[in-house]
Amino acid sequence: MTLPEIRKPHPARCHCGAVELEVTLAPKGLATARRCDCSFCARRGAVAVTVPLDGLRVVKGEDNLTLYTWNTGTAKHYFCKTCGIYTHHRRRSNPNEYGLNAACLDGVNPRDLDPVAWTDGIDHPSDRT
Ligand SMILES: [Zn+2]
Repeated sequence: MTLPEIRKPHPARCHCGAVELEVTLAPKGLATARRCDCSFCARRGAVAVTVPLDGLRVVKGEDNLTLYTWNTGTAKHYFCKTCGIYTHHRRRSNPNEYGLNAACLDGVNPRDLDPVAWTDGIDHPSDRT
């Protein structure tokens, strides 16, 4: 397994190219990759890596992003309006972080990230009392 060098910042984009981001991953970089089995992520199926809130900049296409929220509305899931690709979301488990679609990172093949750990989204940290 060879993982690409991740630059700081590193370019990321949706499929059609309408949305371009520049992201600086959390210090552990690609090792933060996770899948989640909550009702939403399980359907979406993307592997997400961690980006601090100040580590993400929309370079192009901010007005081409659309927002999906549900339940508590804390998590904010962003998609490209044109190609439908999920680019990033503001996390509910830690609103100081974004989850970024690892496959949107330039040069990253999500297959190379396996095995990817799972977050327990059914028993979500924010639902525990
Ligand atoms: Zn797009």
